[in-house]
Amino acid sequence: MSARPVNVSGVKIVREIRINPIVPSESVLVATARGMRPKKEEAPAPHDARPHVDTCPFCRGNEAMTPAPIAQVPAEGDWQLRIVENLYPVLGDDRENPNFVFGLQQTIDGYGRHEVIIDHASHGIRVHEMTEEHLALLLSTYRGRMEQLYHADDRLQYVLVFKNFGPAAGASISHTHSQMIAMPVVPRNVQAEVRHSTAFYRTAHQCIFCSLIDEALTFEATLYDRESGALRRKINVGQFVIERSSRFIAIKPFASRYEWEVHILPLAHQADFLDATPEDLVDLAGLFKRTMARLNAVLGGVQYNYFIHSLPHGAEYAASAPAFHWHIEICPRTSIPTGFELGSGLFVNTICPEDAAEQLRNVVLTR
Ligand SMILES: [Zn+2]
Ligand SMILES: [Zn+2]
Ligand SMILES: [Zn+2]
Repeated sequence: MSARPVNVSGVKIVREIRINPIVPSESVLVATARGMRPKKEEAPAPHDARPHVDTCPFCRGNEAMTPAPIAQVPAEGDWQLRIVENLYPVLGDDRENPNFVFGLQQTIDGYGRHEVIIDHASHGIRVHEMTEEHLALLLSTYRGRMEQLYHADDRLQYVLVFKNFGPAAGASISHTHSQMIAMPVVPRNVQAEVRHSTAFYRTAHQCIFCSLIDEALTFEATLYDRESGALRRKINVGQFVIERSSRFIAIKPFASRYEWEVHILPLAHQADFLDATPEDLVDLAGLFKRTMARLNAVLGGVQYNYFIHSLPHGAEYAASAPAFHWHIEICPRTSIPTGFELGSGLFVNTICPEDAAEQLRNVVLTR
């Protein structure tokens, strides 16, 4: 890589196209100089900190305003979180419509399930404000419900868990909630990740996500004073690493589509989110909380989406278990995609991912 020019204020200027190492057909234009920013900024979400809102269907005491719960945790007494049917599902129960194929027009019956997880009883609590115990409960609820859905119907190939926070990120109800959509098809971006990681595995005999983690961690270095030999500095995280716990790592992808995008992966190879043990999820809860707190400290109430990518179910995906590695992608919405991005398919990132990682890593967290 050539030396980077520096502008008057001393900030490195980067202008390069970075290829996504997992899905090489996707690339990102990293363009950090002001004049190169073709983007409009997205406002932070208005923060509604109220713990209870009388008219909110997701608040305690208003349970009659939602369909009967699929699950409530704990089952008796004051609930900590609830799973309910989505009132406006994008996929629904069986219909009589057969799948339709005519020439290049193809439809698959929109069979599936669409459920809402009310993350917390407190209306306006944000993820980084939840306790680690509560986040572990939330993560194990995602896992448990995902397992039930896969077991209940073997036509389901993918269960997508995601959260929208803020109106621009698609959240229509301000009470903290996540969603789960179980579908008979595999989303195209997951398919691409599985296909490319499987191809990598065939030639390298290694999981590409494990290789990326190894690569991120090889930046570890110990610097000694040249003359005295005394320890000067120990750098124990790589430039893309935001934080690691005993079982997970939060990294800034080298080819990040969004300025503040962060991915969290288990350090040990696991293909399916269902492989995560209760102990894994307790460890993840801590790292997840801290990562969200770092994003909040740097961005202040930003709107975001997060979602889990996991190995799809179905016989044709089983062989990809050594190649694919589940992960959480957190995508803060700091800018609105422009015609250039929508038209070219090339994401424009106006902050160098290494610099964003450094800012996130440098946040001092108060416990
Ligand atoms: Zn509420
Ligand atoms: Zn792996
Ligand atoms: Zn992914």
